[in-house]
Amino acid sequence: MVAFIGLCVGSFLNVVVYRFPIMLNRDWTEFAQEHLAEQASAADAAQLPEQSTPAEPFNLAVPRSRCPSCNNLISAWQNIPVMSWLILRGRCKNCANPISARYPLVELLTGCMSLGVIGTFGFTALGLGALIFTWILIAATFIDFDTQLLPDQLTLPLVWLGLLINLNGNGIVSLHDAVIGAVAGYLFLWSTFWAFKLIRGKEGMGYGDFKLYAAMGALMGWQVLPAVILIASVVGLIFSLISIALSRSTSGQAFAFGPYLAIAGWVCLIFRDTVLSVFGGGA
Ligand SMILES: [Zn+2]
Repeated sequence: MVAFIGLCVGSFLNVVVYRFPIMLNRDWTEFAQEHLAEQASAADAAQLPEQSTPAEPFNLAVPRSRCPSCNNLISAWQNIPVMSWLILRGRCKNCANPISARYPLVELLTGCMSLGVIGTFGFTALGLGALIFTWILIAATFIDFDTQLLPDQLTLPLVWLGLLINLNGNGIVSLHDAVIGAVAGYLFLWSTFWAFKLIRGKEGMGYGDFKLYAAMGALMGWQVLPAVILIASVVGLIFSLISIALSRSTSGQAFAFGPYLAIAGWVCLIFRDTVLSVFGGGA
């Protein structure tokens, strides 16, 4: 049952990963246009820029999913997690253009990770909290991977959720350790960012990473932070070496650190005791 719910949530996460950056982009453009229009009207009331026509509604619910190649509406039976992709053999029924294997893979990943979370924490309030944390984490990771953006709309709820899970003393750590974890996580990456910027004159990571790291501290306490950053760096290094070996990455190109933080954080969530005993941070 958990795996099935995970597969269905994974299907929805695919929609979030695809649409949310587009929605944000629309919002920012609209905001910038309004701001410029206000400035222009203050400077010269006669010269108002043309108002853009209101766009068609576009959010997580509407419009219905369409094939990106032929614009054909995707029917309900073509929307069954993993199964539809297998039955259709990864091709659109209408135009036979390939459908990315990432859609069923994200669904499978979400299903497996959901099983991992409930297997670890059981059918408890903590299990439910960790499950929601995991789902938001998956969406944030793939958005960061695609766009190098970690939206506040996803990272900040992770921080609050991490703190809430530990509110009543039956979470993962005490509320004390969770609050210190959130603050320490944010400040550590924030100061690293500024040190790097002052010394090298370059920005090594984004503000979204600070909030994601803060969320890890909020959920699992400050004790787990060194392990998360270490595992994230090692995983990041391995992935970079692989992509350099496959010569798909040019050096100096911006890369998202968020996905590695997310992978490391989730591994620590499931194997927290083992990780802490290895890293000697067990209190
Ligand atoms: Zn098509």
